[in-house]
Amino acid sequence: MKRQGKKSLAWNRARLQLKREFFNKQIISCEICGSTYGLSFAHRVKRRFITDDVEMFKVALICVKDHEAIERLPHDEMFYRINEIIENRDSKAAALAFQ
Ligand SMILES: [Zn+2]
Repeated sequence: MKRQGKKSLAWNRARLQLKREFFNKQIISCEICGSTYGLSFAHRVKRRFITDDVEMFKVALICVKDHEAIERLPHDEMFYRINEIIENRDSKAAALAFQ
């Protein structure tokens, strides 16, 4: 078995935490289309370019179809799409907190 690098170990830990957080927030389907098929976390930036913990947690939960589509986008557009999902979600949560 291939030995895991430092980065993928850090991501495995982050992913477990994210799974709990998303479950607690009841984000359990694709944040783009609502599908529940082949869900995974998509980062704003390509994982090989992530150098800090903050960026590691900047993710959207999306299905395999949308993940494939987003991976084909230019990097800046990928950042924009994922970031938009994160910001809309956070502002919705903030609005609920003030109700
Ligand atoms: Zn989707």
